[in-house]
Amino acid sequence: VFEYAPAPESPAAAGDIATSYGHFINGEFADSSGSEALKTVNPATEQVLAEFAQGTEEDVDRAVAAARKAFADWSALPGSERAKYLFRIARIIQERSRELAVLESIDNGKPIKETRDFDLPMVAAHFFYYAGWADKLEFAGFGRRTTDGHSGPNPRPVGVAAQVIPWNFPLMMLAWKIAPALATGNTVVLKPAETTPLTALRFAEICRQAGLPKGVVNIVTGDGRTGAALTAHPDVNKVAFTGSTAVGRAIAKQVAGSRKKVSLELGGKAANIVFDDAPIDQAVEGIVNGIFFNQGHVCCAGSRLLVQESVQDEVLDALKRRMATLRIGDPLDKNTDIGAINSAAQLARITELAAAGEAEGAERWAPACELPTAGYWFRPTLFTGVSQAHRIAQEEVFGPVLSVLTFRTPEEAVAKANNTPFGLSAGVWTEKGSRILWMADRLKAGVVWANTFNKFDPTSPFGGYKESGYGREGGRHGLEAYLDV
Ligand code: NAD
Repeated sequence: VFEYAPAPESPAAAGDIATSYGHFINGEFADSSGSEALKTVNPATEQVLAEFAQGTEEDVDRAVAAARKAFADWSALPGSERAKYLFRIARIIQERSRELAVLESIDNGKPIKETRDFDLPMVAAHFFYYAGWADKLEFAGFGRRTTDGHSGPNPRPVGVAAQVIPWNFPLMMLAWKIAPALATGNTVVLKPAETTPLTALRFAEICRQAGLPKGVVNIVTGDGRTGAALTAHPDVNKVAFTGSTAVGRAIAKQVAGSRKKVSLELGGKAANIVFDDAPIDQAVEGIVNGIFFNQGHVCCAGSRLLVQESVQDEVLDALKRRMATLRIGDPLDKNTDIGAINSAAQLARITELAAAGEAEGAERWAPACELPTAGYWFRPTLFTGVSQAHRIAQEEVFGPVLSVLTFRTPEEAVAKANNTPFGLSAGVWTEKGSRILWMADRLKAGVVWANTFNKFDPTSPFGGYKESGYGREGGRHGLEAYLDV
């Protein structure tokens, strides 16, 4: 089912990008009630791609009203009917995946090899997966039928969902939010991040192409002010947020006492733990993938390497050799491994934290490589001699920066891995199956990968412990966020 589109060759493959965009409300592209516009730029060139509306409270109100109106009919549709729309959306995403991949790479800065082979197939896969659930909810533990034919407790959609997403996987985050919400009979108002609105607006076209009833999906653009207006709206029943822990905390306070159902997918500081019996070459590939995939703009990035002391030198030598082969540059070049940093603000944050790493006494290393002159770039960077108290061992950098710590025993590895405010993911590299299970039991992380990293699948729930948030997206568990049983 998941065919890959041929590699896009040029920006023209992204289709027409308008000079300015409004919102998508009640099935129509609509102007904002306000006059403020924001700009989205190509982070690899700093060229302005388009202007888009800064959503006002009135815009949010119109979108929520459209979603509320659509909810009555959409939630009353048999699941099999809702599934047809979701399957149709999934197919159109596949058909238009070349265009969407190029557009995503231009707006976000990520390498086309990733948007083409990871983001877009995952986006389609989520719509296919949740389409499959839409007509099976009552038979899967979310409700049941009694033996005399009467229906037992039924799963009910929650209502209107306010969904706010970040810029690191714009379309994939949209799919994680919209597909389960629609499958379960909810309607949505989604706000994409202010640096990457273009693929969400293109997705609005796809909703029209699929004939999705008006108001089921609404997209309102803007920055955090628009996001706050949306999550605060009194007629919203469910808030689904993915983004930073700071904003997640603000949202949790804002909705306290409002009776809204809330799920928060926040930051991370994952440990990628390499034992001395691990196949080193394979582990090095996993370390590189763990931290340099998507420029390290990944909530579950393996940003702390915990390496067993006895193999430290061997692993670091191999890692440096491998890092020296990474190709950094034009996101639309099929050979590029590391694209552009998403924004000037994010580049400033990465630069500041890397400087703090040096100031606190860690040793910085990066391969020598040419960086393009325009755009936002950061070399893949390694810090050794990192202590647990260093900022680069505790704070999320959200960039291509790896902090290396060492350990001697599995107990020490667990203690160090768990010693951050976050708990989203972890990786374990070892030949010993029993050790994988022992570690997985003790790591406070929503996902533990064994001898792999950054592996995703729509059937697997994803989410965090501690300051990484609560609630799960993906899999059967992802349905619970959108149902009252
Ligand atoms: P961010 O929190 O700054 O912004 C995320 C979204 O929230 C944006 O759309 C933004 O406009 C909006 N927003 C900002 N202030 C708001 C407010 N007060 N109320 C409502 N909405 C508001 O995060 P970011 O910089 O866009 O994304 C990076 C963060 O996202 C990282 O911390 C990363 O770990 C996290 N993230 C987590 C996951 C996960 O699944 N756990 C996935 C991707 C990214």
